[in-house]
Amino acid sequence: MVHFMGAKHRKIAYFSMEIGLKNEMPTYSGGLGILAGDTIKASADLGLPLVGVTLLNRRGYFMQELDEEGTQTEHPQEWSPADYMELLPAEVTVLIKGHDVKVQAWLYEHHSLTEEVVPVLFLDTDVEGNSLDDRKITDSLYGGDRSYRLKQEIVLGVGGVRMLDELGFKITKYHMNEGHSSLLGIELLRRNGMSVDKVKELCVFTTHTPIESGHDVFSHDVVAELIGENSDLETLKKYGGEHQLNMTLLGLNLSNYVNGVAKRHRQISEKMFPGYKFSSITNGVHSYTWVCQHFRDLYDTYLPGWANEPELLVRVRSIPDNEIWDAHKRAKKDLIDYANAECGVGMNYDTLTIGFARRFTEYKRPTLIFSDLDRLRKVNEAGNIQLIFAGKAHPRDIMGKVLIERIFEYIDELKGEIKIAFLENYNMELGLKMVSGVDIWLNNPKKPLEASGTSGMKAAHNGVVNFSVLDGWWLEGCVEGVTGYSIGPKPEVDKSPEQVEMIELDDLYNKLEYIMIPKYYCRKDEWISLMNNSIEMIAYYFNTHRMMHRYVTEAYL
Ligand SMILES: *Cc1c(COP(=O)(O)O)cnc(C)c1O
Repeated sequence: MVHFMGAKHRKIAYFSMEIGLKNEMPTYSGGLGILAGDTIKASADLGLPLVGVTLLNRRGYFMQELDEEGTQTEHPQEWSPADYMELLPAEVTVLIKGHDVKVQAWLYEHHSLTEEVVPVLFLDTDVEGNSLDDRKITDSLYGGDRSYRLKQEIVLGVGGVRMLDELGFKITKYHMNEGHSSLLGIELLRRNGMSVDKVKELCVFTTHTPIESGHDVFSHDVVAELIGENSDLETLKKYGGEHQLNMTLLGLNLSNYVNGVAKRHRQISEKMFPGYKFSSITNGVHSYTWVCQHFRDLYDTYLPGWANEPELLVRVRSIPDNEIWDAHKRAKKDLIDYANAECGVGMNYDTLTIGFARRFTEYKRPTLIFSDLDRLRKVNEAGNIQLIFAGKAHPRDIMGKVLIERIFEYIDELKGEIKIAFLENYNMELGLKMVSGVDIWLNNPKKPLEASGTSGMKAAHNGVVNFSVLDGWWLEGCVEGVTGYSIGPKPEVDKSPEQVEMIELDDLYNKLEYIMIPKYYCRKDEWISLMNNSIEMIAYYFNTHRMMHRYVTEAYL
């Protein structure tokens, strides 16, 4: 056994299929991974005795290349783990398809501003002695077929628990961030004499998925093939579903504390899984990570200590308005310069700029604003607007890829009228540039499919005004006309999906034309007030410091 320094004092293990800690480590695909990274960072700031467990994703979540038509090509983003982490001399094995697969771990240490450290273990099967196939298990995030995914989940769940043991950790809470790591429950059952009550005491489960089809499921054929026709299979049927293995169900059945990631998401989850009791802890973002340099400087001057106590942002009005505006103008210049250099669109510094960046997939409706081009033109006549887009489509998300191409078609169609840029290769760095550099952050997913959403919280941290449908976190963050604007009706209205979309489009165009454009161009003081409110009433609350305080007091202790 290799004893890892301080291991026995780290009580909480945080498991996540993806963790996004820094831009140079492409081990995340989107919101789930960024949230996990922000969780690690806030835990370090707060000095929590936590250790992260994830997979190495050696081939990196991909580099996106777009041709003139917006057709996406994916390239592996090779990176060298040794540049950022240390390979530990520990090894464990997991049984897959009747043979042992060796698992090793890379140690990444996240050092916080408060000089605390949280270790993160990146599990890796590229070990000498493993077959060529097995060496690739930890290569590709969400790559491969169902069998590949289940192998990854065996390594994460079972291998993760064994690795923690091997390193001398004495874990008292296992936090599963989404169902990908639920197999850890099987390992814990074995070592606790199959006592479900004991295991439930040890486990915390957070679900992120508000739709049935979004849950991770495996046919029992695949499960039997990889895990074997033994007592484990019976256990998995008992706790994870008779007809197929549902990883969410498995997590739910083996955890005493279960939560959704926003109040609305809790309601949806309770409807989806009747009989289970959910709590809700609304997501946050790591404030320091998601504030651009210009605003960091400002907060440092007027609100010292804000980074480790984001509640201080509630005092944003101690900063003079003109300094808020200047910091925003600088952040906007950085983005516009970048967009002009990348796309040659000739965007202006003074034009109202709307940003949209996230995973490209159907439910996020990235082309919604183009639904009625004549109304969009009319909006633009009321006061010029320019639009900046970014986002990757998952390699197998055909519709997501088509949506990128559609944006390129609209760029062509509106040429000479509205300046539109699509920035390639959305990642953490570009994300920060965008959430700090636009004036309005647009988010219009189809309800109720956004469990929480976090990019709008990042925007608010930089005084950028949110304009979003009332779903996920925005139901809690939106005070109409004060912290930003809503698109469409509240979720409880009794209307057909078509009617809802009509109201959404009306709001989208009308609020831009009649409320936001006049404020932005003619009543700058009122606009700056919206910016202040975003920081004072959103950023001070929707951060991972508040979120982790909740996890500690409700779930971990
Ligand atoms: C914050 C972030 C996301 C999540 O954005 P949502 O709008 O909440 O879906 C995805 N990708 C990256 C790179 C991010 O920084």
